Amino acid sequence: MYKDVRFVCLQRCLEEFLSRFEWNRSEVLGLAKETCTHCLGFGMRDNGNTGAPSPCNCVFRAIFRACYHRFRYLVKTEKHISRTRMEHTNGKEQRLAWGRRDEEYIADFCIVARRNLTASEHKLFRFHFLLGADWKLCCRQLKMNRGDFFHEVYRIQAKLGRVLRELRPYSLFPLDEYFGGAVRGAPPRRTPTVVEMPVLKRRRLDPPLRKVA
Ligand SMILES: [Zn+2]
Repeated sequence: MYKDVRFVCLQRCLEEFLSRFEWNRSEVLGLAKETCTHCLGFGMRDNGNTGAPSPCNCVFRAIFRACYHRFRYLVKTEKHISRTRMEHTNGKEQRLAWGRRDEEYIADFCIVARRNLTASEHKLFRFHFLLGADWKLCCRQLKMNRGDFFHEVYRIQAKLGRVLRELRPYSLFPLDEYFGGAVRGAPPRRTPTVVEMPVLKRRRLDPPLRKVA
């Protein structure tokens, strides 16, 4: 029994280690803020604890903003515009399924926030980002001052930005991958090949039958 528990723990640690997202410079370069004083616009900075380079918070906030803008756009869009589409899936039996990607994105965005924020963080997230309350109203409701409010907002943006990118197996960012229907593990698409004409072998003609005199 003890061995089983230890084995399960080790297996989970190994799976967590293998599924860890690897950030690299090309991933963050286009998202970094040019005027950022921490990463100087490069997107990566040295981690204080390990010394290894890690993404800057300005990258995470950029990811969050991109996802949040799409969320707002989809919420405001008239519902009759959304349509059901047949999409490729990674199922064992079926590779195609009907889905409403816009509504799925809205639900995913809310669920990711609810699962990864603490109760107090989610309260602020709900007031400010989902219900649209401005900082004055939030400060009055949550009994915070202006500085604490914006520090908390930046922290939530960075926290969720990382999660939105590192989410497995399907992340919400990049948005074109989410909405484009890219399926990981799916068989590669067949590229059109040049149709080759069958080579006709020259058949040896049988000798003409001799006429019997
Ligand atoms: Zn930065």
